Amino acid sequence: MSEQTAQEGTAGIRRVVVVGAGMAGVQTAVALRERGFAGEVTVIGAEPHQPYDRPPLSKAVLLGKAEDSAFDLDFDALGVDLRLGCEVLGARPADHELDTEAGPVPYDVLVLATGAEPVTLPGTEGVPGVHLLRTLDDAERLRPVLARQHDIVVVGAGWIGAEFATAAREAGCAVTVVEAADRPLAGVLPAEVAAPMTRWYTDSGAELRTGARVERVE
Ligand SMILES: Cc1cc2nc3c(=O)[nH]c(=O)nc-3n(C[C@H](O)[C@H](O)[C@H](O)COP(=O)(O)OP(=O)(O)OC[C@H]3O[C@@H](n4cnc5c(N)ncnc54)[C@H](O)[C@@H]3O)c2cc1C
Repeated sequence: MSEQTAQEGTAGIRRVVVVGAGMAGVQTAVALRERGFAGEVTVIGAEPHQPYDRPPLSKAVLLGKAEDSAFDLDFDALGVDLRLGCEVLGARPADHELDTEAGPVPYDVLVLATGAEPVTLPGTEGVPGVHLLRTLDDAERLRPVLARQHDIVVVGAGWIGAEFATAAREAGCAVTVVEAADRPLAGVLPAEVAAPMTRWYTDSGAELRTGARVERVE
C-alpha cells in the first residue's frame, strides 16, 4: 500500500488500540507508523516484560545462552504508547471503549492480536513439576529444571516439543516424548515430509512414543 493510500484509508481515525504485545501486535504498530499513520497508537499487553519474540524461548533462552529475546524497538521514538502488565478485560463496541485492569481505554479502531494459549492437561494446573512452555516466565522456570538434569516427559511432538526435547538432551536430561498421533508433526505436515523428523529424537537420544495420548497425570 502506498503512503498516500494508507493515509487516505485512515482518514478520520485518530486512535488505534492494539490488544496483545506479541509479534503480531507489535508489528501492527510498527507497520502503522511505517505507512504514515500519524494518529495515536496504543499497544496493551498482559505480560509485564518488554515485548519479546517467542522462538528463542525453546532454544537460547531455555539453555541460558540468552537472557531474553526482547524486540529491538524504541517504542517512544515510534510514538507508540506501550502499556505492559495490563490485561484487557473486555470491549464495549457501542462505546468504542475497552475495559482494562487500569480503567477504560477509548479507541477508533481496535486490533485484537491476542495470540494463542497452550493446550493444558486437566488436573495439572499449579502442580509442582509440571510446566508449560509459552512465555518468557515459563522458559525462566524451566531453565533450572534442565540444569538439575531431571528425567523429563514432554507431551507433544510438534515443533516446540522437538526443540524442547533437543535442548533438554543437550542439558543432559533423560527425555521421553509422548505424542497422541502416530508420528511427529501430524497436525502440520504430511507423513512423507515429517518422516525424517522422527530421526531428530533418535539422534538426540530422546525416546519418542507415538500413539500415546495422555489420559491423566498422577
Ligand atoms: C517456545 C516457542 C517457540 C516458538 N518457536 C517458533 C519458531 O521457531 N518459528 C516460528 O515461526 N514460530 C515459533 N513459535 C510461534 C510464534 O512464537 C508464534 O506464532 C507467535 O508468538 C504468534 O504471535 P502473536 O503476536 O500472534 O501471539 P502471542 O505471541 O501469543 O502474543 C499475544 C500476546 O497477547 C497478550 N494478550 C492475550 N490476551 C490479552 C488480554 N486480554 N489483554 C492484554 N494482552 C493480552 C498475551 O499475553 C501475549 O503476550 C514459537 C512459540 C513458542 C511458544
